[in-house]
Amino acid sequence: MKRFFKRLPAVILTLTALLSLCATALADDMVGPGPVAPLPSINRTEVAVSQVEAWRETAGSIRVTWQAVPQAAGYIVMRKAPDEKGWRCLGKVDAGGETSFLDVLASTAPQQYLYRVDVLPADRDKYVSGAGDVAAATNLLVCVDPGHYLGSSGACTDGGKTYRECEFVLDVGLRLRDILEDRYGIQVRMTREDEKIELFGLVNGQSEVEDRGLFSEGCDLFISLHTNAKGNPVRGCDPWYQPLYINKPTVILNTLACSDPLVVDMANRAGLSLAAENYRLGIENQPNYGPVTVGAIPHMGDKADPDTAPGLVCWRKGNRGDYYGVLRGSNAVGVPGMIIEHAYHTVLAMRRLANDGVLAPLYAEIDARSVAEACGFVDVSACT
Ligand SMILES: [Zn+2]
Repeated sequence: MKRFFKRLPAVILTLTALLSLCATALADDMVGPGPVAPLPSINRTEVAVSQVEAWRETAGSIRVTWQAVPQAAGYIVMRKAPDEKGWRCLGKVDAGGETSFLDVLASTAPQQYLYRVDVLPADRDKYVSGAGDVAAATNLLVCVDPGHYLGSSGACTDGGKTYRECEFVLDVGLRLRDILEDRYGIQVRMTREDEKIELFGLVNGQSEVEDRGLFSEGCDLFISLHTNAKGNPVRGCDPWYQPLYINKPTVILNTLACSDPLVVDMANRAGLSLAAENYRLGIENQPNYGPVTVGAIPHMGDKADPDTAPGLVCWRKGNRGDYYGVLRGSNAVGVPGMIIEHAYHTVLAMRRLANDGVLAPLYAEIDARSVAEACGFVDVSACT
């Protein structure tokens, strides 16, 4: 304190000088800008990280990695939700070690983020952090199962073009994977990416359909893609030329999905959109679709006349739990799952549009948006 009083006259002098400077600056502001002294030239080189990647490590964490920068003493990892303006600093990583950071999330609820990594230059006189790459990620991992494999589903040729369910749903599945990953940052695991399926070392018919569901272990959601067929002729029609009125989407949930409001929401969105789009395209004769709620999921076949009733989200019980093997498999590994029967391929009008390339992109779009939008995710492809 004594020392302060000794220095008091100097402090007062400094304050007086500062006030006088401010007064001059204010006076200058009032009369317009005066001559500006040139700043000392700073020629610092921008350094920025590249190849920033982010992906779900667990439902509660997202891993961020990037390419090392030789001029860096460290890195600052930043995050923001797509609708947020400012970036939030998550932490600092020293250079020299692994260029990796684990973002531990506050919960396992679906979350979507953008990540950025800034450089802390070792020599700040020479280098400055530039704008680095941005990566998008969510904490959602979806197992996509394009049903069947080549030769395991029927084929019908109309006007020189052949419809095979196994080929069509593979087309839908690959497009769905790309939309989920590129547009929403949703991670995808595929049961197959070409005409054959190989799971747990078993190829095609060697494996059981249940294996497809078991393969989703560790995922947050399982979706099996199909188009539907009537096993028996409807009212005397040839099995491949059935009447338009039977066409409708059906979404079948496994037991876990039936009690998961988020998955029920996804299923409702998919069913409603598929029915509306099939109707718009003239391959379904009514746009109705009955949304369902947790605790009131109808059992498949409960409708008095399933041929003419609107499509619905439902579940089907079998002797060993869920009736369908893929859903039984996913249920056994704790993953809520659904089969999406997009439309009936035993209706000629549907096959024609599928063969003309109209339906696969549309169905992939509907499936992707049903999943992403139920989670509140937005298209972040323009941000990365
Ligand atoms: Zn099928």
